Amino acid sequence: MKKFSIRVGEIKLYYYLEIRERKTLGISVYPNLRVVIRAPMNTDLDLIRKKVKSKLLWILKQQNFFLSFEPKSPPKKFINGESHLFLGKEYKLKIIKSKKDLIKKIDNQIIVYQSGKNEVQKIMKQWYYTNARIKFYNLAMPYVRKFRKYKVEPESIEVRWMKSRWGSCTLNNRIILNPELMKAPVGCIEYVIVHELCHLVFKNHNSDFFKLQNKEMPDWEKWKHRLEKLLA
Ligand SMILES: [Zn+2]
Repeated sequence: MKKFSIRVGEIKLYYYLEIRERKTLGISVYPNLRVVIRAPMNTDLDLIRKKVKSKLLWILKQQNFFLSFEPKSPPKKFINGESHLFLGKEYKLKIIKSKKDLIKKIDNQIIVYQSGKNEVQKIMKQWYYTNARIKFYNLAMPYVRKFRKYKVEPESIEVRWMKSRWGSCTLNNRIILNPELMKAPVGCIEYVIVHELCHLVFKNHNSDFFKLQNKEMPDWEKWKHRLEKLLA
C-alpha cells in the first residue's frame, strides 16, 4: 500500500492507497486511525485526492470517535518526588528500600517499597493492573445491568495493556479495557465502559450508536475531552 497525504487548511491527512479489482472507490478508517482508500484499477490519482478531500469531515469524525490515544507526555522516570496519577488525582512518588515489593497509597503519596528484584516501573505497572481489575469490574456492573434492557451482555470484561486504545469490544462481545485508564477520573472510565457497551448493540459508530451513547451517558463528551487532555 502506498502512502499519500493531502493538506486542507490546517489539516494534513495521510492515507494509504490500495488498487484493487473493484468497481467503486471505498474509504475505511481503522481504530489505529489509519485511512485506507481502495480504488479500482486505472483510477486517476487526482480523482482520488478530490474524493478524499470531499470526505475529509467524515474521515476526521470517524478518527475522532475511535477511542484511541497517542501518548504525548514525556516518559516517566520513576524517581522520588515525581508525580503520578491515580483515578485523576496526582500523587508524589516515594521509593523506599524494603524486603518485599509493595505499594501503599497514603495521603498524596504513592509509596513504592522496593526489594530490588523488580524495577519501580514494573512494580507500579502491576499495581495499576491489579487495581484496574477490581475497579473496572465494580464500575462496569451497574452499567452492564442497565444494558440488559437492550438484551445484551458482555461475554467478559477484561483488562489488558494496549498500545493506543482505551477500550475495545471484540466481535464476540468481550469488552477489553486498558489499565492505563486507572490514571483517569472515574467519569472517564465510565465513559469508556458505556462506549464499549453501546458496541454490544451497534458495532459501528453510526448515528444509532451515538443516539444510544447520548441516552446512556448524556455528558459523555465532557469525559472524553478530559480523558484526551489528561493522558493523551
Ligand atoms: Zn467505538
